[in-house]
Amino acid sequence: MAYKISDECIACGACAEQCPVSAISEGDKYSIDPETCISCGACAGVCPVGAPAEE
Ligand code: SF4
Ligand code: SF4
Repeated sequence: MAYKISDECIACGACAEQCPVSAISEGDKYSIDPETCISCGACAGVCPVGAPAEE
């Protein structure tokens, strides 16, 4: 299980700063490397639009 960022992402960057394993990459929309994500939920906790969710 890993978290995934939905199309709701507004690319604010808050989640990437919080990720303890640096699994989140910058882009038009941010994205999570499922191989690196440890499903801690920190990104979901800081996202202003609720874009990261567990798959
Ligand atoms: Fe990083 Fe945790 Fe979000 Fe996975 S759930 S991308 S480990 S902050
Ligand atoms: Fe996108 Fe939410 Fe991450 Fe901001 S915190 S970059 S809106 S997923």
